[in-house]
Amino acid sequence: MARQRIINGSPDEDPDDESPRPPLGPKVDFRPDDEKHDDELRPQRLEDIVGQRKVVERLRIMLDAAKKRQEPLGHVLFDGPPGLGKTTFATVIPKELGTDFQIASAPALTAPKDVLSYLTNASYGSVLFIDEIHRLPPAVEEFIYPAMEDFRVDISLGEGINARTINMPLKRFTMIGATTRSGMLTAPLRDRFVNRLHVDFYDEPDLAEIVQRNSRKLRTEIEPSASAEIARRSRGTPRKANNLLYWCRDYADSKAQGRITDDVARRALEMIEVDHVGLDELDRRYLMILINVFCGGPAGVQAIGHSMNCPADTLEDEIEPFLLRVGFLQRTPRGRIVTAAALAHLGITAPPDKPAQGSLF
Ligand code: ADP
Repeated sequence: MARQRIINGSPDEDPDDESPRPPLGPKVDFRPDDEKHDDELRPQRLEDIVGQRKVVERLRIMLDAAKKRQEPLGHVLFDGPPGLGKTTFATVIPKELGTDFQIASAPALTAPKDVLSYLTNASYGSVLFIDEIHRLPPAVEEFIYPAMEDFRVDISLGEGINARTINMPLKRFTMIGATTRSGMLTAPLRDRFVNRLHVDFYDEPDLAEIVQRNSRKLRTEIEPSASAEIARRSRGTPRKANNLLYWCRDYADSKAQGRITDDVARRALEMIEVDHVGLDELDRRYLMILINVFCGGPAGVQAIGHSMNCPADTLEDEIEPFLLRVGFLQRTPRGRIVTAAALAHLGITAPPDKPAQGSLF
């Protein structure tokens, strides 16, 4: 899902609000989650994939076994936060198998008829990839159960006493699902995926390697320390690393004869306000709202979303996983709570008798 970007305040801002505002002036509209560059830099084969060693190892075994048996691969589910490589893995699999590939996005499959053509077009051993599979409507989900299990679809014709169901056989295909919310998948759908693979955040050396490789693809010279700097600020996410690399390349072309040195990378990243741990404007805004509006929490994600004018889904998918991972946020049954580490990072001093773990003030 594309991350909703908020630039210079929300449309329904209170005109009487006297709270300090970010300085006005030219603002670089930079989107670290922008997906527009994904296809240019996407690895094409399993050997091009950096990191995710456990996932790669399991995939190698699954692909090897399927090829040896000359059978279609079992259905595969990838889960993990956005930008970590789920679509990349899904596109690499058919290339490794030498089979056909179809791609669909669950929000576009609103009725069984929308998915029917994908199922009937699937050739033997081909791959059908459904992105954001947790967003399939129940009627479509039920329609694909027999397709996944018995390779047939049940089509209802007519209505009332004339109604009848015909069974249409399908070729044996492989369904690949990707989700950022495995918890939202129903148990029957999850159980139909025999292989479930979790993609996790990347460590800095792997991200630096991705930046190095991609700068070669973009024919841009980059210092190893600059790759490490970009990696450090990419929040463990290759998509962000790629987008920061694109920005640093633009900056270097415009201001530094096209070479990304350590200093050029730092200046470029400071300009778009991505700080040294990778927090960007939206992350800081989330934390500041939690601190200023909700006294540090606990606060529900819906309420925070309303204050930010940002869908709760976007916060849960794109902002919170990283804040939780770096220990800036706690998720409790009562709501979200900002941590002392986040306050220290933002340079805010909590009253000594009211530690940040509870309500702040
Ligand atoms: P997701 O589907 O999980 O949102 P993508 O597969 O679209 O993420 O990945 C976004 C981009 O990040 C890809 O285009 C690719 O360039 C890069 N990327 C992701 N995973 C890797 C990896 N393991 N090695 C190299 N590049 C990667």
